[in-house]
Amino acid sequence: MTAAADLPTTTSPVTPAPGELEFVRAFVNTLDIEAHTERLADPASWAKWAAEHDLGAAATAADLREARALRETLRQALLANHDRAPLPAETIEALDAAADRSRPALQFSGRGSHLVPRGSGVDALFGRVVATVAAALADGTWQRLKVCASDDCRWAFYDTSRSRTGQWCSMSICGNRAKQARYRDRAGAREQP
Ligand SMILES: [Zn+2]
Repeated sequence: MTAAADLPTTTSPVTPAPGELEFVRAFVNTLDIEAHTERLADPASWAKWAAEHDLGAAATAADLREARALRETLRQALLANHDRAPLPAETIEALDAAADRSRPALQFSGRGSHLVPRGSGVDALFGRVVATVAAALADGTWQRLKVCASDDCRWAFYDTSRSRTGQWCSMSICGNRAKQARYRDRAGAREQP
């Protein structure tokens, strides 16, 4: 269990992930499980989200189905990050398919190389996700990107705790809720003969 001392106490509930990883976090959070809002529901809702992230608006219903499927396999990977587990097989398959479809370009610089997304709309989205996940896996920031341990939340957050053991999107909301649930369970157990 997370020691209270490891948790940031004064930061806002939403600590942005570094660089482009924040984009991946935003992508995973296009579905708000608790509020029942889906920003990739249809081409109109997508167009609004795409504009906020400088992606072209072109997307068919089939594209959005693919995008939602990729997003949910990423959510599984972010859950696996709590255990520092490798990428789940379905996530690997979805990322491979996204890379194959969007074909980001490999660009060299003086000290290395990176992937550059191409195209627009869902292709640009996939290219950006693929490039960012690849870079984050390489630099070690990936394992800090997680989804909230609460099943009815699963909001993506960046774990800034020193020990990398953060469980909740927000200690003041989900963390306290979990604590109260445990307290109720214990209280309930005591009442049972
Ligand atoms: Zn949460």
